[in-house]
Amino acid sequence: MTLAVDFSAAADPLKIMPNFSNPSEIARETLRQLAIKRLSPSPENYRAIYHEIAGTTTEAGETFPEREFAALLAALPKQSAAQLRIVKRFESALKAKNWQDCQAGLNGLVNQWGQEQETPWGELFGEFLRQWESKQPGLTIARKRDAFDHVLTGSASNESLFSRLQGLIKSWAQNVAASDDIPLTDGKAPPVDSTAVPASTDTGPEAVPVNAEEKRLAGELRDLFGYTLETLIAGSFTDEPEIAGDSRRLAHQARTATSRASVDGLQNGLKRLAFRLELLTEDRAELRNNLLNLLRLLIANVGELVSDDHWLQGQIAIVSDIVAAPLSLRSLGDAETRLKEVIFKQSQLKQNLTDAKESLKHMLAEFVDHLAEFADSTSEYHDKIEVCAEKINQAENIAELKDVLDEVIRETQQIQRNTQRSRDDLQAAKRRVDEAEKRIDELQSELDKASLLVRHDQLTGALNRRGLEEAMDKEVARSRRRRAVLCVAMLDIDNFKKLNDSLGHDAGDAALIHLATVIRESMRPHDTVARFGGEEFILLLPDTTLDDAQTALTRLQRELTRRIFMHNNNRQLITFSAGVTDFRADDSQTSVTKRADEAMYAAKQAGKNRVCVA
Ligand code: GH3
Ligand code: MG
Ligand code: MG
Repeated sequence: MTLAVDFSAAADPLKIMPNFSNPSEIARETLRQLAIKRLSPSPENYRAIYHEIAGTTTEAGETFPEREFAALLAALPKQSAAQLRIVKRFESALKAKNWQDCQAGLNGLVNQWGQEQETPWGELFGEFLRQWESKQPGLTIARKRDAFDHVLTGSASNESLFSRLQGLIKSWAQNVAASDDIPLTDGKAPPVDSTAVPASTDTGPEAVPVNAEEKRLAGELRDLFGYTLETLIAGSFTDEPEIAGDSRRLAHQARTATSRASVDGLQNGLKRLAFRLELLTEDRAELRNNLLNLLRLLIANVGELVSDDHWLQGQIAIVSDIVAAPLSLRSLGDAETRLKEVIFKQSQLKQNLTDAKESLKHMLAEFVDHLAEFADSTSEYHDKIEVCAEKINQAENIAELKDVLDEVIRETQQIQRNTQRSRDDLQAAKRRVDEAEKRIDELQSELDKASLLVRHDQLTGALNRRGLEEAMDKEVARSRRRRAVLCVAMLDIDNFKKLNDSLGHDAGDAALIHLATVIRESMRPHDTVARFGGEEFILLLPDTTLDDAQTALTRLQRELTRRIFMHNNNRQLITFSAGVTDFRADDSQTSVTKRADEAMYAAKQAGKNRVCVA
């Protein structure tokens, strides 16, 4: 029920009402009229009828200008969210007939316009009202009005009105500053003497260049800031598309930030960017250190290996792998560990190889000695046989001949024994050489494999237990440093024993390889896969929440059904049960693995082929 409706309904009968002059009579009549019209005795109704009877009507100051405000409300712009907010506020103030709220709404409107317009009229009017209302010594309202009229009539254009008004307001403000001794301005404009008020309008144009200059400088600074963000930040981080993109967005924001809200937005964006840059800088420093360590290791080892191509090639292959892929802390750390192990293993093998070669040389030397001995003894034999032949020629009788023949037999037997011994020695030497050669070959191929197999499971190529320990160390450290989540999953093939028993151990092996391949190809590149034991695997999922980890494993299960394992042209469905958990602040490798294992066990208990969260 609105006042206007009630009032118009009561209008006609009141026209024939007698005049009342006594207030108490008017009051009585008012109550009577309220009863006749069956109106509720609210203060508004009472006041309206009272004024009607007294013929005073509601005073202009007391009437709430509802209709006018409603018209104003209808004409207000309602495009932006901020405008809509103000209109809403105005509307409810109007409904509640709350004058103060209406006033606040109008203020908001003025401010809003100030922000939206290029020339900040809103701001200027706000300041104008403030200065108009505050008391300055020696400045009366009349003088202010005079000065204001002077500015109004003397301004040819909007711009000049703006700048002259700005000067006027400033001179009023400085009047206070001068009297209070508070430096309200930047001190560039000379303080105005309070006695020289009419001249204050003339100080306006003097103060304007300062403001215009400030405005121009602010614009230039904004541009400079945008330029810095675009060229220095976005330009230096072309390999970090997110940071480069954010920097470009902020540069645009900096160039267009003219309102409080947009400056606040810019500030928040800059804080976020700074935080990310800080993280990135940390990462890059660590990356550099790891790279240096890697190079030092490599160089230290190159000197040792320079005579042996095979060994050098293995290491160079690792380094060129790293350089080929985008550099990451993970791959560098991985390569460093692998190189260390290769170098360690190689140094062991190299010692063995040197020993083996040494003993081969030794044997050959011995063999040559034997040959020489043999040759010596045969030439000695020849000499002796020649002597015997001579004796045979000169032999006079059988008895003499027999002695010579005995000697020949003795010498021949001796040389036979020597030959036999030499042949045995030779054969033994050859056997040992063969063995040494075989050992050298073995060592050589072990050396070739060393760089691949140290931390990896030979059957599936996934990390082995030792590789897992190291990877987990790294992931845990990384997640702590970045305060990022890390999830650990344990998975175990369902009914694997049955598969082994029915199809054979080789089929089991092939199934394990198949599973490892599907895992590697379905999970993200920075997830880690390790073979924990027989048919159990562990996955490390960095930057993954528990929910996401569970989803990822369920997706892997689906993928495994899609990429079915084939054995002798038969399709063999492999399923697994998995347990997932997150790495917590007080966790160790053992505790987190145990929790994942328990969750996996729960998945088995619940019927297998499912994922349970710890
Ligand atoms: P569940 O669903 O409860 O896990 O049953 P399961 O049969 O998979 O589990 P169980 O632990 O009883 O059997 C695991 C089998 O995995 C036993 C073992 O012979 C087999 N296994 C372990 N390592 C290998 C391997 O390297 N190759 C092959 N072919 N089989 C393996
Ligand atoms: Mg098992
Ligand atoms: Mg199993």
